[in-house]
Amino acid sequence: MRTGIFFYYQEGNRLRDFPNALEGILERESVFFYDAFYPSKPASSFDLNPVSYEALLQVHTSEMIEEVRRAGVFEGALLSASGTIRAAEKIGRGEIDNAFVFTGYGDHHAGPDFFGGGCYFNGAGIAIQELRKGYGVKRFAIIDTDAHHGDGTWEVFRADPDVLYVCFCGNPDWEENNKVDIHVSHRITDDIYLEMVRKTLKPRLRRFRPEILFWNWGYDGTKGEYGDIGLSPHFHILLTKEVKEIADEICRGKFIIVLCGGSRRDLAHHLIPRMIEILAEAKRPH
Ligand SMILES: [Zn+2]
Ligand SMILES: [Zn+2]
Repeated sequence: MRTGIFFYYQEGNRLRDFPNALEGILERESVFFYDAFYPSKPASSFDLNPVSYEALLQVHTSEMIEEVRRAGVFEGALLSASGTIRAAEKIGRGEIDNAFVFTGYGDHHAGPDFFGGGCYFNGAGIAIQELRKGYGVKRFAIIDTDAHHGDGTWEVFRADPDVLYVCFCGNPDWEENNKVDIHVSHRITDDIYLEMVRKTLKPRLRRFRPEILFWNWGYDGTKGEYGDIGLSPHFHILLTKEVKEIADEICRGKFIIVLCGGSRRDLAHHLIPRMIEILAEAKRPH
């Protein structure tokens, strides 16, 4: 598998160890590194451009875009969403198979006309519209294992049956128009969560047969995090293996991990390189 890493340099603590913590991974021939922003580098060495205004309008209202501008995070939000969109385009063109996207701001609380919870633009939402328009991709799945409900992503695709959205969160079980909430208790074990993924997510994805899979991955449900539901750090490694396996089976391994919630620097340092290793080691299915 060819793996793209889409990097976003942001001030703050959680990603402070990156990209240094990717040492040994970046040197591999099948791993490609693209970065969006780094103040001390010359502009010509940025690999990723901000999202265009026209692209934003496919998902967000002009009023909402203006509100993000007034919030003072506009450029960062554009570059952050850009990683997901460029990852999708490179997969669409067959340049890479899978990707890990470092975001400064998450996706899933950003809706058509609202935002919150540290999310401004819905990168996966915009990426899906771009894949439709430019690459003829028709069926998409987004899975969401951040601890919180993805109200933004749900609203963006509420009326769209060709996007399967499976959200593991505190909401009761619910399903409408291929938007699915799967209830996760506020106290859960790794084993029970993984069993739920095998029983509820895998069969759904097999039936739906998406051509590409997005994974809104947050680690805020880990013990000691702000969304603590009792998960161990190792849970995320096991879940990555599960999701990779299903992506290999149903969509030739085309799969994008989008970093969502989580705040701890030590967890980011521990988990992200291991998850990228799993992506990079995936064999290309025949
Ligand atoms: Zn969250
Ligand atoms: Zn939900």
